Amino acid sequence: MPGVETVQGPVDARELGCTLVHEHVRFRDEAVAAEWPERYDEQAELDAALEAVGAAKERGVQTIVDPTAMFGGRDVRFMRRVAERSGVRIVACTGIYSYDYLPHYFANRDVDAMAEHFVADIEGGIQGTDVKAAFLKCAADAAGVTENVEKIHRAVARASVQTGTPIMAHSMPAMATGPRQVEIFREEGVDMARVQIAHCGDSDDVGYIEGLIDTGVYVGLDRYGLEMFLPIDRRNATAAELLRRGHAERLMVSQDFCATIDWFPPEAAGAFEASGAIRNWSMTLVFDEVVPALREQGVMDDAAFETIFVENPARWLTA
Ligand SMILES: [Zn+2]
Repeated sequence: MPGVETVQGPVDARELGCTLVHEHVRFRDEAVAAEWPERYDEQAELDAALEAVGAAKERGVQTIVDPTAMFGGRDVRFMRRVAERSGVRIVACTGIYSYDYLPHYFANRDVDAMAEHFVADIEGGIQGTDVKAAFLKCAADAAGVTENVEKIHRAVARASVQTGTPIMAHSMPAMATGPRQVEIFREEGVDMARVQIAHCGDSDDVGYIEGLIDTGVYVGLDRYGLEMFLPIDRRNATAAELLRRGHAERLMVSQDFCATIDWFPPEAAGAFEASGAIRNWSMTLVFDEVVPALREQGVMDDAAFETIFVENPARWLTA
């Protein structure tokens, strides 16, 4: 099998093993962090990342795919520290995580110029290191597929076509962004077997999700624990139905957990837990609660587990 780039260098795809395909070892705004570094405790961030990744490792996780891109504070040196200290591989990306905003830098440059930046991360290395991006990231959310979002999608698509690198697209089912995102990728000639539409599991509209699967893409049931978007029971019912319909080979199951995130003041986490907006959000929830529930329902056996947590991530990353 072909190699996959990780923050510690390329590995054979067969070595990836049990993989969480969507987790963040740290999520923060790089501009705020650069301007007010004293507001951040790097040691505490590292400790939190190691605790989260270590717990996943105890459940058998060998690789974490971390889709932290521009505006999420992507930092491959930090990722490499976490990988080295934890013994869990981390797979990094390139791309822009924006729901609409673009800096003047990219607003005044065209799609191909943007794509060149992504290609440089894939072929040359990220942030002055030899760590190469293994996949591309873009996003569409509540604002829908705006002009700027479309520009990022087209740049990601062109970099994918040029380099054969897979794509992960954050989507918002409530806005039905998925079909339009797929359409843009198709217009640009992207191989649909290399596309993952993330966060489809925020919806329990099986028809909507199946419509995306029918285009050949992977779908992410990847926000377990974020009850604010959909509670775990409804997420599991969706997963069970998709498994019953024979879609195991197209499902990506993860938590979108952020070991630390600067979007809210520290006290917010407790309030979210108390209000039920999040529940047991972690890098282990899918192993502690989701897999057992799906096994109990008779829709997940060892083969389906292997398909979802081992084979699908490896196939998406390598085609
Ligand atoms: Zn994410």
